[in-house]
Amino acid sequence: TKTVQVIGGGLAGTEAAWQIAQAGVPVILWEMRPVRTSPAHHSAELAELVCSNSFGAMASDRAAGLLHEELRRLGSVIIGTADQHSVPAGGALAVDRGVFSRQLSETLASHPLIELRRAEVTEIPREGVVVLTTGPLTSPALTEDLQRFTGMEYFSFFDAASPIIVGESINTEIAFKASRYDKGEAAYLNCPMNREQYLQFWQELSAAEQAELKDFERETAKFFEGCLPIEELARRGEETMRFGPLKPVGLYDPRYGDQRPYAVIQLRQEDKAGQLWNMVGFQTNLKWGEQKRVFRLIPGLEAAEFVRMGVMHRNTFINSPQLLGPSLQFKNRPTLLAAGQLVGTEGYTAAAAGGWLAGTNAARLVLGLEPVTMPVTTMMGALFDFISSASPKHFQPMPPNFGILPEFTTRIKNKRDRYGKYRDRSLEDLDAWRTGLQIRSLVGT
Ligand code: FAD
Repeated sequence: TKTVQVIGGGLAGTEAAWQIAQAGVPVILWEMRPVRTSPAHHSAELAELVCSNSFGAMASDRAAGLLHEELRRLGSVIIGTADQHSVPAGGALAVDRGVFSRQLSETLASHPLIELRRAEVTEIPREGVVVLTTGPLTSPALTEDLQRFTGMEYFSFFDAASPIIVGESINTEIAFKASRYDKGEAAYLNCPMNREQYLQFWQELSAAEQAELKDFERETAKFFEGCLPIEELARRGEETMRFGPLKPVGLYDPRYGDQRPYAVIQLRQEDKAGQLWNMVGFQTNLKWGEQKRVFRLIPGLEAAEFVRMGVMHRNTFINSPQLLGPSLQFKNRPTLLAAGQLVGTEGYTAAAAGGWLAGTNAARLVLGLEPVTMPVTTMMGALFDFISSASPKHFQPMPPNFGILPEFTTRIKNKRDRYGKYRDRSLEDLDAWRTGLQIRSLVGT
């Protein structure tokens, strides 16, 4: 068959369907709303924004802004429509959500090659080119089929993630590299605490303010007793964390000889280059402002820059490093592609970005062309490279951020200068790449 099926008309699916149709390939877009709805969606429109109306910072030397600009240059219908219906939001690209989604529904409905079908898909179509974009709240029937397809161990439906910190914002005069009992290569950065520091941290953490869980999240959270939020451990008693994730045994700070710290917070390397570090055991429901305030009390993390805050929420996602290539095709079925929150990219703009690539590659497959991957120096390419090559064992969703881009060989000390250079490199490489592929742009650059 020469028609592509896109399943899920959210941020990723809307972009994917548009790119396929723009390439001249017919597409059926399946959306279950309003026949069935998710616990977070409220309307029948395509690309509904389930929470905030913001796509993140607009400036192109910020991670979100760079992703917007890349998508603009690639003719993204999501970012094009967001630009058209933006509202003032102090440096962020925010939209009038009702107008935004209605406009996208109309734009897609008026494309002669897009057929919108309002029905829940309960099984992955076994034939033809298919793009899966059913998002963080994929319906239960399709979730079951996906679990069968991927294998249970490569499928998550709850995201209990610890904060991720930019490596260079960690004070390594305090945090030391070591593995517990010196086993294997020194793989962790360890933030040591003395008793006084521990007690103050414990008190602040126990009293910190939590975010409200939604009802459907509270239901799911019940199944995760083995994965308690760090603040809940703190509330269970003064010593509980010291016998859990903060236990100091086997960890010696070389600068203090044999003297063991009273407690230790461990940070695990998150990316290949060691630019991102994950706080081990710090899954949390604390409000984001509280996380920053309390976690910066940890010695070595006083100036920590967070690329992702800790969360515990319902989130359907697959183990992409195990299952997908950077072209967003499944390794064991190259005619099946996926994008959006389902593949572990985080946020509206990242979902649109995945939709763009999965849609482009789905169309290319039908047209008999080789699927493409993107330069890893672009924010899009770096995201897809990350989700397809991160450690499968600890895989957690990732938002766009500069820590996943390859570093320059000579270090640029000033952060704003460095991010500006990342932006310049990304856009230059993207332009060369899209010219080679003859990809048109809505904004005509
Ligand atoms: P979605 O936009 O959710 O689209 C998936 C679509 O698939 C939906 O329309 C759904 O109805 C449909 N679908 C599901 N199953 C089926 C099926 N079996 N058959 C047919 N259709 C189906 N990100 C942000 O950037 N900012 C935020 O403020 C934010 N808040 C969030 C709040 C909540 C409660 C949740 C769950 C997520 C939030 N996110 C937020 C993350 C957000 O989900 C993603 O950024 C983005 O919506 C993901 O895009 P997507 O296309 O992958 O999924």
